Formats: sequence, C-alpha cells, structure tokens
Amino acid sequence: MPADPPGPRVRGGPRDAAAHRARKRFGQHFLHDPAVVARIAAAIAPGPDDTLVEIGPGTGALTAALLDAAGTLHAVEIDRDLARVLDERFGERGLRLHQGDALDFDFAALATGPASLRVVGNLPYNISTPLVFRLLRARDVIRDMHFMLQREVVTRMAAPPGGRDYGRLSVMVQLHCRVEALFRVGPGAFTPAPRVDSAVVRLTPRATLPLTGTRLEDFGRLVTAAFARRRKTLRNALGGLREPAQMVAAGVDPTVRPETLSVADFVALTLAGEGPVGT
Ligand code: SAM
Repeated sequence: MPADPPGPRVRGGPRDAAAHRARKRFGQHFLHDPAVVARIAAAIAPGPDDTLVEIGPGTGALTAALLDAAGTLHAVEIDRDLARVLDERFGERGLRLHQGDALDFDFAALATGPASLRVVGNLPYNISTPLVFRLLRARDVIRDMHFMLQREVVTRMAAPPGGRDYGRLSVMVQLHCRVEALFRVGPGAFTPAPRVDSAVVRLTPRATLPLTGTRLEDFGRLVTAAFARRRKTLRNALGGLREPAQMVAAGVDPTVRPETLSVADFVALTLAGEGPVGT
C-alpha cells in the first residue's frame, strides 16, 4: 500500500495521538471540538449497565467521553498505530480494544443477549454504507446505533417517500430501524476538515420485522430493482419481478414511480409474490 502523504497533525490529544498524521485511506478526520463531543455523548447517554461498541475510535475524542459512563466499552480500530496508542491510553481504564476491520468484525460475538449492544462511531465516510448494511444484519443483538455520517447520507436515511433523497438506502434502513436525524456538524469540528457537512443520526432497530428469511432477501431485490429505474413506472421498473395484477393486489398502482412507494408498500409488494423474487 502506498505511504500516505503527511496529513495535518491532530490537535487536542495526548502526546502520541497529537503526533499522529491523519491517514486518508482510513478516512481519518478527528473530532477536536469538545462541544460536539459532549453533544454526541449526551445523545448516546451511556449507562452503567450498557455495553457499547465504538467503531473507529481514532485518537479517542469520543472514547474518552464515553468510557467512564459506560459499563463496558469495546472499540474496533483498523489503524495499528492508533490502536496501540488507544490501548496505552485507555487500556487500564477498561477499554476493550479490537484492532481490525469493522467490515469483517463479528459484532454479535460481543453481545450479552438480544438488543444488548449500543453501537457508536464517527464513521469513516468511505465505508459507512456497507458498514451500516452489515450492522443491519446483526440487528437482533443491537439496541441502538449513533453515527456521525456525511450529512447527505443521514438525509437519505431519514427521507420520506416522494423526494429525490428517498432511495434504496432510505427504504432498507427504515425497514429495519427507526431513524432520527439528530444534528448537523460543520467541517470545522474536525482535523483535517472534511469537504462535506456531517450529521449525527440515531438508528433504533425495530423489535419485530414484517419480513424474515428469504422474504427479506426478496424485499432487498425488489427495492434494488425499483430504484435502479426510479424514473420509470413501477410496472416497467419491476418487469419480470411482479405482474401488474400483483401490484394491484398489493394495493399499489402500477403506473406510479417507484420513488413514491412507502416502506409498507414495498413490504406488500414482496408478500404479493408467490415465490422467491428473481430466482
Ligand atoms: N472517532 C474518531 C474521532 O471522532 O475523532 C475518529 C473518526 S475518523 C472519521 C474514522 C476512524 O475510523 C479512524 O480512526 C480510522 O482509522 C477508523 N477506520 C477506518 N476504516 C476502518 C475500518 N474498516 N474498521 C475500523 N476502523 C476504521
């Protein structure tokens, strides 16, 4: 892997962390604004019985704010140098550090029971969508998730039907979770400053889902097909996956655009199929 060009030195941490130069390939933008850190910690409100998992703790800005209040705090960090510094700094205070890639990480292995994990993180923006999809698959063991993301991604997650922000991400996340866009964070809160605005979102997995197993996979295929041709009519976008008569039986007009359908409409369309979709 090519060496990173030197990034700006990180402000505000202990000596080793301050010497760290941000690595672009790991999407490193470190929070240095204490007011933003405090606001995120207040939104999470960790309790003494909580098991938290922080993804990408970086130089530990959020970690430090969560550690004393949380019962247990795990952290998953890909950068070996930061992992070493974090371990030295927080190991004795009980931080359980896992050096590795969050995209391969077995989150369920940390759970102490159903809905027992609280996942948090100022996520590397380049992997935030696949990471969220991975966490949705571990939904049963997750109580809630608080993430700092690119603001546009939070807008898409929370978008209602009908607008241009509403798409596959909105439908998939909203099927699994209640979505609350909490607050915006400007680029000046980070070192180095990202080019985009950020926002904090809370995702709370639903206790029960209307679809499971292969039906859940059918749902994903239908939603992907629908938004791949979002300017077409539903009849054209879903040609081969659902017949117009099945759409009508599901209470959905075949002549509307896919982007006008609610999550419940996509569920009804999924259930209107007789067998697995697209197989
Ligand atoms: N939480 C810190 C903060 O707010 O200052 C750092 C946030 S920075 C945007 C993202 C962090 O995620 C970095 O520490 C980076 O090294 C780490 N990271 C990047 N890719 C990762 C991955 N695949 N798995 C785990 N950590 C990752």
